[in-house]
Amino acid sequence: MPASRLGLAAEPWPAFNISSSTRASRTSSGRRGLHAASSLRKDVEPPSQLSRQEDVASDRLRRALSEIAFAFDIDGVLYQGHRPIPGAREMLRKMRWHDVRYVFLTNGGGSHEDAKFKSLSKRLQLSEDEDVIRNRIILSHTPMRGWDDKVKQEGTVLITGSHPEVARKVANEYGFARAVTPADIIAANDKVYPFDNLRESLHREWRPLPDGKIVPNTTDPYSKDVPADTLKIDQILVWNDPRDWSLDIQVIHDLLISHRGYLGTISDKNGDPSLPNNGWQQDGQPHLWISNLDLLWRTEYPVNRFGTGAFVEALRGVWAAATGGAELRFSALGKPSRHTYEYAHDRLLHHAPEAPHGKGKKRPLRRVYMIGDNPESDIRGANEFAPADGTQWISILVRTGVWKETAAGREPRYKPTVIVDDVVEAIAWAMRNEGVEVTREWLAASEDWV
Ligand SMILES: [Mg+2]
Repeated sequence: MPASRLGLAAEPWPAFNISSSTRASRTSSGRRGLHAASSLRKDVEPPSQLSRQEDVASDRLRRALSEIAFAFDIDGVLYQGHRPIPGAREMLRKMRWHDVRYVFLTNGGGSHEDAKFKSLSKRLQLSEDEDVIRNRIILSHTPMRGWDDKVKQEGTVLITGSHPEVARKVANEYGFARAVTPADIIAANDKVYPFDNLRESLHREWRPLPDGKIVPNTTDPYSKDVPADTLKIDQILVWNDPRDWSLDIQVIHDLLISHRGYLGTISDKNGDPSLPNNGWQQDGQPHLWISNLDLLWRTEYPVNRFGTGAFVEALRGVWAAATGGAELRFSALGKPSRHTYEYAHDRLLHHAPEAPHGKGKKRPLRRVYMIGDNPESDIRGANEFAPADGTQWISILVRTGVWKETAAGREPRYKPTVIVDDVVEAIAWAMRNEGVEVTREWLAASEDWV
């Protein structure tokens, strides 16, 4: 199959492989394509009736496939370590060929969706021209694309992550007009952080504060008479796992104790027992957004590594110690957050593979299958998500990732609808659940397209 035949929205639907005497040689090969279950007839029909039956079966298949969608987690689902799951690439090509709606829903982040599209294409040995992955990547912070334009255009955000400068560029592309990094703040006022260890490396790149703002050394941080040119932060965005926890915790703390997000001020409501949360985060401070809460992630190293969730635990610990036990209030994106599932659902409803992160005409869905390896994020999120339009989200757990069946834990804490060996089996199960006969062998085969 030449790559150019893939991903062309204008291509007519391919004829589905209907079981009949005329196609006996193909079906006997054990690589049957998609079948409407009820069309699997062994009797021989007169040609005209057969043709009509094929039409009916094809219509049923089209309808069945047009009303379902898939959300694929990436790590542990499409590949294990650096090894792609056998058959995953071929299965994806077939889903694309049959115009089934799907997205890739990952808690990874810190880069642009197109960078992830390129790296995933490479890892799965797919040509970028094949259009199997493009415009389908949803990273942990991608839902911020859908934020209100007014918020993005008028506000100022503090953004941090593993590569703050990259995160800033991506945020700018999302429409955030004023994105400030911790490096900008210490460049504007080196008294904010009295250490210079990472100045020439992690914090080497910085920009002047927007609109000529400054970080003043105020004499009375409790004064409400804030100089007009003081930097005010409206939202704090933790894009992905920060590298300089010390600086980031300091700056985030300073903003969360401030008066209305003006850096260098302190709210007089802090510690007021008559207010909710003893007055902490009750004075118009910026809202804290965390792009995902994954404590751990898997690399080639035998012991799991800490992710963004570990940074949040550190921040929470320091916050509790500094405030006498106040709750740290924040919102999380990424799986299992409802925000992320809502965004993914909306993308699938308006799926338009040719439009970058874009929207096509709304087409309703009956069922969405979330295929993941992590019960705490993929499965939990899908189980708890009940969209207002009544679409059913079904969770499928694969055995190729972080979850392992052990003697102590036969079942995961968040139970999926079904547990299967891998992503190819997951698709076969979902198709059967829709009354569409499909074999694992056909899904994983590199030919036999229809
Ligand atoms: Mg995973």
